[in-house]
Amino acid sequence: MEKPAVAGGTPVRDTKIFYGHQYLDEADYQAVLEVLKSDYLTCGPKIAELEQKLCALTGAKYAVAVSSDTAALHIACLAAGIGEGDEVITTPITFAASANCVLYCGARPVFADIDDRTYNIDPESVRAHVTPRTKAVIAVDYTGQSVRLDELREICRAHGLLLITDSAHSCGTKYKGRPVGSVADMTTFSFHPVKTVTAGEGGAVLTNDPALYERLSLFRTHGITRDPKRMSREPDGPWYYEMVDLGYNYRMTDIQAGLLISQLDKLDRFVRRRREIVNRYDDAFSRLPQVRVQEEIPESDTARHLYILRIRPERLSIDRRQFFEALAAENICCNVHYIPVYYFPQYQRLGYRRGLCPKAEKLYEEIITLPLYYGMSDRDVEDVIAAVEKIAAYYAV
Ligand SMILES: *Cc1c(COP(=O)(O)O)cnc(C)c1O
Repeated sequence: MEKPAVAGGTPVRDTKIFYGHQYLDEADYQAVLEVLKSDYLTCGPKIAELEQKLCALTGAKYAVAVSSDTAALHIACLAAGIGEGDEVITTPITFAASANCVLYCGARPVFADIDDRTYNIDPESVRAHVTPRTKAVIAVDYTGQSVRLDELREICRAHGLLLITDSAHSCGTKYKGRPVGSVADMTTFSFHPVKTVTAGEGGAVLTNDPALYERLSLFRTHGITRDPKRMSREPDGPWYYEMVDLGYNYRMTDIQAGLLISQLDKLDRFVRRRREIVNRYDDAFSRLPQVRVQEEIPESDTARHLYILRIRPERLSIDRRQFFEALAAENICCNVHYIPVYYFPQYQRLGYRRGLCPKAEKLYEEIITLPLYYGMSDRDVEDVIAAVEKIAAYYAV
């Protein structure tokens, strides 16, 4: 491919900056080392400590730490009893895992459209897609902004549906003053390195419901129980356990839990810095007629994970791809979140067609994910702004 042209003159910077990066410090290294030197590498005390910490952070009664958010979403669907013949409503503007978990259970994801100001799932579109087969809604706190939880809960209550939020982006976000994790029936987190806090790989499900908690715990570990009350007969002896359902090995290691406990100690700092950067970006880009700034609902006190620059194609002589390449030529290496899930061949084979969610499809044509992470310097932030301003002015129509 031809090297994209720099929009006049020299690039704004000569070293590359990427859209995301983890931040680890000495305390994190020590936390991992401590676990490595302990008696337990997995199923040990760090998992319990982490789960307590996640409950304290979110106000949820129960937390189940797992190996990834993908695993968290899968056991959430299993705990919800989702199976063949069921439908689950979700958004196309997400990572595929938010819908794949429904396919894992033999059920059908149904895609509702987004609100094209906040880019989150539109409760009215959710309502319009409810059928007698609908079992649950999986809403995604895209970029870290909380979905409209009250409206979604009301729809779910009216139709007897479970509300799951894929909160991979929103660890640290509050909705009407309540932390994400304590409001929906189940909330899932991701601790992949691009997310706000990391375990290397990892995830969790949060819930206030003891019955869901029990099922989540079972599905995390092969469907095995050691609780005599749940067994089909008297135990043969102290070694005895029973497999009472078909579960998986979705456990997180204590090594990962140790790292994540240490990372969570920095969450407030991480969130504050990300907010500073977002404010700086919003301030600069709201003055640019060639781009649009993501709107936020007042109910969401957002810990922002992604910053989305949305171009206005009618104000530019270039399209999103050319804008993206022009940023790369300035050494600003961006990304795009997300390709609508049902565009993928796996979904096309299942009969999903383009045109399902027009607002989501239009959004996809116009978005670029700019660099946003804790370790960015003020200079980095200014370079990103300078590059966007330069390209917008150069190609303005
Ligand atoms: C990252 C992400 C996932 C997947 O998380 P893993 O921990 O990598 O499995 C799912 N949904 C969304 C919205 C994500 O951003």
